[in-house]
Amino acid sequence: MKEYFEKDLYEILGITYEADIAKIKSAYRKKARVCHPDVNNNTPESIREFKEITEAYEFLIDENKRKRYDEIRGFSRKRAENSQAKRAQAKQAYSKTTNESPKTEQPRKTPPKEEKQSFSNVFNSILDGLFPEDDGHEKKKNCKPSNGRDINLNVSIKIEEAISGTHRTINVLHTEMCPKCEGRRFINGSKCPMCKGTGEISIHKKLNVKIPANIKNGSKIRIANEGNKGCHGGKNGDLYLKIEVEEHSFLKIDGLNTCCEVPITPYEAALGANIDVPTLTGHVSMKIPAGTTSGQKFRLSGEGIEEKGKRGDQIVTVRIEMPKDISNEEKELYEKLKNLSNRNIRENLKNG
Ligand SMILES: [Zn+2]
Repeated sequence: MKEYFEKDLYEILGITYEADIAKIKSAYRKKARVCHPDVNNNTPESIREFKEITEAYEFLIDENKRKRYDEIRGFSRKRAENSQAKRAQAKQAYSKTTNESPKTEQPRKTPPKEEKQSFSNVFNSILDGLFPEDDGHEKKKNCKPSNGRDINLNVSIKIEEAISGTHRTINVLHTEMCPKCEGRRFINGSKCPMCKGTGEISIHKKLNVKIPANIKNGSKIRIANEGNKGCHGGKNGDLYLKIEVEEHSFLKIDGLNTCCEVPITPYEAALGANIDVPTLTGHVSMKIPAGTTSGQKFRLSGEGIEEKGKRGDQIVTVRIEMPKDISNEEKELYEKLKNLSNRNIRENLKNG
């Protein structure tokens, strides 16, 4: 379908886009005389050429179709026909206000019916598909309103941000109707230089977006109207932000609870200690009781995730970590400990 308005119908007839109906008719007659199949032994080339000029001719003498074609191709023509119509309208308005006899009105001129060629109906049906008929009244735009497409973007946030909420400046690349050709793609018959004939341009926009607290991994935030711009009165698309919550370097999420593993030294395990444990909101001091074993779990109440009035805990698993290199002094002290203790902790395994 596109090829019809991408064809230069004026060039086919050898006229300029400003040609009036008389010029179109005489150009067609001249061309038709030369390439009519009857005078060219019905060669396929002459049939094709005659069909082409006839199609162009029938199209251009139809005022409505020509108008739409010109709009799409970006031809702006001041036409005598238009000003004549305006004069007639003004006259009509005048006669109404002055109660003049309607006799003075000019009957509306209808263009004389041209005899149709056999393929004109085919051509017309193609055009009807291409340009849906309007009411015959003032058709301002050649383009129907078209809605802008939605834009989808991914946004990565930290767990802490997912919990407390955050802000992000989002760079959105969206398309807008080309301001030069107003989405018509053509200007005076050639492709618009600004949008290269696409009818749209790309625009960068910075948006400051609020990400609400307690957002879950994979949730989507919709920002209305910030998608691609609609054309000719069409609605703008929306912007969708898909939230990706990054894995925490230290904390794992388990429902509303957070979990972590914390190393402790053998003497902290034996003697007890207060250790510093990172949480979602900062650090807390946690008490390790004397005689703590490796793998023992502790609960930091209320340090998990808060949601709908409920609050999770942070579960801390401690691991006794043995230093790989110990000093001679440390070694001596361990020897001392060994000699002080005479308990056999593997007693129970003896008969197992
Ligand atoms: Zn353009």
